[in-house]
Amino acid sequence: MSRFFTDRLKSLEAYVPGEQPKDMKYIKLNTNESPFPPSPSVIEAAREEAGRLQLYSDPECTPLVAKFAELYGIDKESVIMTNGSDEVLNFAFMAFSDEKRPLAFPDITYGFYPVFARLNRIPYEEIPLKEDFTVDYRDYVGINKNIVIANPNAPTGMALSLDEIEEIIKSNPDNLVLIDEAYVDFGGESAILLTKKYRNLLVTGTFSKSRSLAGARLGFGIASPEIIRDLNTIKYSTNPYNVNRMTMMAGYSALVDNEYYMNNCKTVIENREYTAKELERLGFTVLPSKTNFVFAKSPDVGGEELYLKLKARGILVRHFKNARIKDFNRITIGTKSDMQSFISNVEEILKEKSK
Ligand SMILES: *Cc1c(COP(=O)(O)O)cnc(C)c1O
Repeated sequence: MSRFFTDRLKSLEAYVPGEQPKDMKYIKLNTNESPFPPSPSVIEAAREEAGRLQLYSDPECTPLVAKFAELYGIDKESVIMTNGSDEVLNFAFMAFSDEKRPLAFPDITYGFYPVFARLNRIPYEEIPLKEDFTVDYRDYVGINKNIVIANPNAPTGMALSLDEIEEIIKSNPDNLVLIDEAYVDFGGESAILLTKKYRNLLVTGTFSKSRSLAGARLGFGIASPEIIRDLNTIKYSTNPYNVNRMTMMAGYSALVDNEYYMNNCKTVIENREYTAKELERLGFTVLPSKTNFVFAKSPDVGGEELYLKLKARGILVRHFKNARIKDFNRITIGTKSDMQSFISNVEEILKEKSK
């Protein structure tokens, strides 16, 4: 740390992204990316747009927002496009929370929430998940704090119903409720249409998981036009060109090709059910997932030990050291053949241990 780093930031603990090692070729099941490449027309659109990179991008993302609004049945004024959904989350924390409006979110959830809260000096309460790792919506009813919930949640993969989400929104009318739907396309129920009914709801989402664009960085927020205007005030005060030209056109083409991506989601769901069943056959506890990953623990091998042994065999999964979940691993769902190699390696590791 330099001596110039301000006192207010000295104690900031940055978010730690999943590892991207380069020492060998891994089967990568650790950062919830799609195992499928972007569709051919997305690649072509990005290539073509590269020829116009001497020009700034369109801060309003006009064609992308129009296509998005049409596909989701909402008004264009209710949408903001951002550099990954991490950016819209940071904008929202910055715009709507402070000492007077503190935040609440689950104790086990997306690791960026506490980081953004501290970065923006927002006091926050971490509400424990139940013993079975569910979010109990009653813990959030009428709590008079701004609320952030990933639905489905990460890294558990478990989802609340739309009725439960609506209860939370309805019972906190003077606070902002942010529902992070990064994984909704893998089986969750979206709250997007509730933004027409409730003025205190912000739904965020991303092209990183279900639309194979993690490396392009494209996220979005959907809310009442007033909320979107506030988020735009933050955007235009930091970086109006937050979505670059190639990403904007790649995102547009991905929406045109929506069917390709929704079919990929179906395949991921099938591979997820296969993986969960196989892990259960091997004695694992597998939380019921509505995402592109499963969260699982074995009675026969510790979470960290399994993670390390899989890594030595060229398979990367995600392990978290947090005491409540240290026995688990989060396993991203890849292709069928990825998952078959994963399962046969787990089986071999368990066999070796029982010798
Ligand atoms: C992956 C993820 C995001 C962020 O994705 P971006 O790549 O920044 O769009 C946000 N929330 C959750 C819960 C995630 O898992």
